[in-house]
Amino acid sequence: MLLLLLGCTTEEPVAAPPDVLIVILDTVRRDRISAYGHGRKTTPQLDAVSEVGLTFTRAIAPSPWTYPSHATLFSGLEPWEHGGGSGGVDKSGRLAAPAEGVPWLAEKMRSAGYATRLAYANGWLELGLDVGFEETFHGGDHEVLAWVESELIEPDDRPQLLVVNLLAAHAPYGAYPVPWLSDDVRAGQLPGWAAPLAMEHGAGINTNALVDGVRFDERVNTGQTHLDPEQIGLIGSLYDAGVTAADRGLNRVLTAWNAAGHGDGIVVITSDHGEFLGEEGLLDHSFSTRPPVIDVPLVVAWPGSIEAGRSDAPAGLAQVAPTLLRLTGIDPEAPGGLPGLGGAVEPQIAYSAETLDPSGIQHHYSQPMWRVRSRDRLLEQGGFGTRLYDAETDPGLTRDLAHVEPETVARLEALLPDAPPVEGRSIELDAQKRAQLQALGYMDGAP
Ligand SMILES: [Zn+2]
Repeated sequence: MLLLLLGCTTEEPVAAPPDVLIVILDTVRRDRISAYGHGRKTTPQLDAVSEVGLTFTRAIAPSPWTYPSHATLFSGLEPWEHGGGSGGVDKSGRLAAPAEGVPWLAEKMRSAGYATRLAYANGWLELGLDVGFEETFHGGDHEVLAWVESELIEPDDRPQLLVVNLLAAHAPYGAYPVPWLSDDVRAGQLPGWAAPLAMEHGAGINTNALVDGVRFDERVNTGQTHLDPEQIGLIGSLYDAGVTAADRGLNRVLTAWNAAGHGDGIVVITSDHGEFLGEEGLLDHSFSTRPPVIDVPLVVAWPGSIEAGRSDAPAGLAQVAPTLLRLTGIDPEAPGGLPGLGGAVEPQIAYSAETLDPSGIQHHYSQPMWRVRSRDRLLEQGGFGTRLYDAETDPGLTRDLAHVEPETVARLEALLPDAPPVEGRSIELDAQKRAQLQALGYMDGAP
């Protein structure tokens, strides 16, 4: 099929390279998506694409926060290979941007004649991750969607790469109109415990809000506040509403994409990380590589060229860029693609630069942590030592098998990279940028 598309013989008509759409539903964890079995119908649009595409059921993000994960998705390099985000943001407001020489997907596609556009709601992306895009737009979800719709009306004969990042599922959790939220919650009437978390604008809750001078999520994550089932229920319901809002955004993007005549192109839908919703007594993301923050959706659809189905092979976001280079014919031999789309089925490694231990959660970014996922086992390694879990029968990761299966530990440890991590380029965040990221709940501890 690929050979035919590339027109490798003089007799065959040369088909145009396929258009490519990548939609990142920021902070959407896999198990809250109806296509992956969630009890609420949160994602009718993603479900529809999943029906016609290849749905990866065990995809993991390479990091539990936005910056390294997007750098990986956009480059095909793992976090320790591009260096972006390592060390978080230091006390003086400096961030490690990806190192020089990163092979950006957008840059390669642009060189191959693609029109390359990036529209994003998450402000981390403008800090050195927009390389190779000839047009970029940053705004809230509504502005991003309006921009995408207006851009797609403009005729352009070139093959298209469009990347869209939507933030609706990210905290603060807006009370979007969905059947499972009560009228009271949708009207902004919250139970007493949640009243201090009321959003300034609109209904919903902000788990980053200060309660008696300390952020609510920090109180939870350091064990000062224990969530009861009612609290976990409300937070989860609001989060699910955000997932649905993101899915409605996806619907708008796809509607505009198809209307512009790109419906026969390649569509990739994924997320950069998930979110803790009370599991292990935790909220938010970025300090652990446990399943709630690492397990992400991944669907690749290309009508007529990729067979619909589900793949339970371990898959990672670093495999997306080489897959697209192969499918577009830009680099038909690009190594490291997704299983079933040109890549080998290999265990995947996820990396977190933060600590797993909730008691040490204030020491953000202090303990590197590794995670290797094979088909049925998961190895975690960090300041706490080495742990091995049966990821299939023990999804909550409660029973450490490291001493029971030392040979599996050795096999998975051998997959950890032995080269030292690449150091990123240090860049300074200005005051406006820091304030913007602080509003998203990041930057705590930085001046
Ligand atoms: Zn994110």
